[in-house]
Parts: sequence; structure tokens; C-alpha cells
Amino acid sequence: MSVIRSLFCVILMGLCAAAFGQRNLPAPTIDQLTEHVYRYGGLTNGAFIVGSEGIAVVDGQTCGSGGTQWLKDQLAERFDVPVKYVILSHDHEMHICGLEVFADTARAVAHVNAKPHIIREGRRTLVPEITFDQNMQLDLGGIEVDLMWLGPTHTDNLIQVHVPSEGVLIAVDFVREGKALAMPELRDADIANSIKALGYLGRMENVDIVVPGHGGITDQQAFIYFRDYLQALRDRVLEQMVAGKEIEEILEIVTMEDFSDYGWFHQWIRSNVITMWEQMYHYREPTEGGGRYESEFPIGFPVGEVDKFNGP
Ligand SMILES: [Zn+2]
Repeated sequence: MSVIRSLFCVILMGLCAAAFGQRNLPAPTIDQLTEHVYRYGGLTNGAFIVGSEGIAVVDGQTCGSGGTQWLKDQLAERFDVPVKYVILSHDHEMHICGLEVFADTARAVAHVNAKPHIIREGRRTLVPEITFDQNMQLDLGGIEVDLMWLGPTHTDNLIQVHVPSEGVLIAVDFVREGKALAMPELRDADIANSIKALGYLGRMENVDIVVPGHGGITDQQAFIYFRDYLQALRDRVLEQMVAGKEIEEILEIVTMEDFSDYGWFHQWIRSNVITMWEQMYHYREPTEGGGRYESEFPIGFPVGEVDKFNGP
């Protein structure tokens, strides 16, 4: 079977190369948002901030798109100042690919937790030279850029990039335009802290424009919409788990119909429920008799007849 498949691939070599070599991605564009801040990108949104002494680029583009090199060429054509910093919003490769093209003039900045993921996973990017824990300020000459880590949210290393004087917040992978589910699934999210951080971002001062990592430009209300959804999803899944319901039943009961006008709802609600259940499995300890999770999840681990703390 695999021989036939290989043969088929050889015959259609041109087609196979087209499918894997050049992905069918939207052409990148640049949009000026304020005097000093620009959004750029194709499949994903990045941004850049231009000061009198240099430029800071936030995120690269999807691997194989050529978008990061394209940006470098555009910046050289349009501006006289060098790219001093590249800021990595988080370690996920889709958002940081190709940033090594800026290694001649720029230093990479990321949260301290991003670096081990980048090295372990062999991300195709510029490895961060400057790392920080809570907050960091970058001065580009007349323009200050505030980098903030609000604790673990989407990943343990997602940061927010705020340009207060321009009223712009670059908030990658934490929100989408208007009412929308932000993520296909919640696998590596910290739910409790995400709910807190979304509320904070929804109230933060000096934010008129929010640039998400995917889709259209939005505003602060998007954080509150997503916060409300995430909180309701957590509460409803948790309630059913406490009532002793298994995941198959929870998928039937927790339909979240009142949020069905949110973008990406129909595509992602099932994986959102499943991964919320998985998160809550780790979060709670059922009271004795309150569930069979310890022998059921997710491939079964054999606690069996022995007392799980005291041995046989
Ligand atoms: Zn991500």
C-alpha cells in the first residue's frame, strides 16, 4: 500500500511539491494603525513599532510563507532606522517563524519561560537573548513599549505588548475579533489565571486598538466576551463532573447554545468542552464515591483494587 502511495506521489511529484512546499497562504500586507504602530501579516497578525532610534518587530510569520523575510525587505525600503528588537509573543512556531532574518541588527526578547520551549522543540526562529519575568520596557526613541506577563494563560509564556502612548495592545492568541472562541482547544491554557487576565486586559487603560494573533483588529470588549464564555464553560463542565457525569454525557449536556453566536463556535465547541473537561480533571479531587475518573482517565491507569496511598 505504501509503495503504491509513494509511486502515486512520484507520478504527481509536481503536485505534491506544490502542496507541501508552498502552502496556499494569503499574501502578507501592512496596515498603519497609529502614527508609530503597524499591523502586518498574512495568515497570522504580527506588528511593528517605529521609533526615532529603531524598530521593534512583534512576531514572525508562518513557516514556509516567506512572510518574515518579506517584512524585512519592506522595513528596509520604508524606514531609515534598524530593527533593534524582535519580540516573541510566545513560543508557538506559527507566530515566530523566520525571525532569524533580523539577527544582523536585532536582539530577540521573550518571556523567560519561552526559551526552554523554543530550544526543546527546535523552533525555527531567533532564540531569545533577552528574557524577563513580569515586566519589561523597551525604548525605541520617543516611543516606549511595555511588555507584560500576566502569569500562565495561553501557554506559560504568552506576553502582552502594549504601546500606551498610541493606545495599542498586541494580544496574540488570547482573543479574536468581537465575540469569538479564541482557541480551537484549551490544551496548554491555565484556565483560572486566563479568566483573571482577560478581565484585567478588558479594563486596562490606554487601549483603543487590540491586535489579535489571528483575524481582524478588535477592541477591549473582545477580552470580556471571551472571559464570559470561558468562565461559563468552566462552571458548566465542572458542575457536571461533580454530578458524576462522564465526558460523553457532558458533551451532550454542555451545549453552550447561549454562546452559539460567537465566531468559531461550531468548529471548536466540541474540542473546547473536551479540553476543559481534561483541565478540570486535573483541577479537582472527587469526594469518595463521586466518580470513576481514577480508573477511567484517559487510557486507564490501574489503581485497581489497591489502596492508592497505602499500597496493597
Ligand atoms: Zn499560541
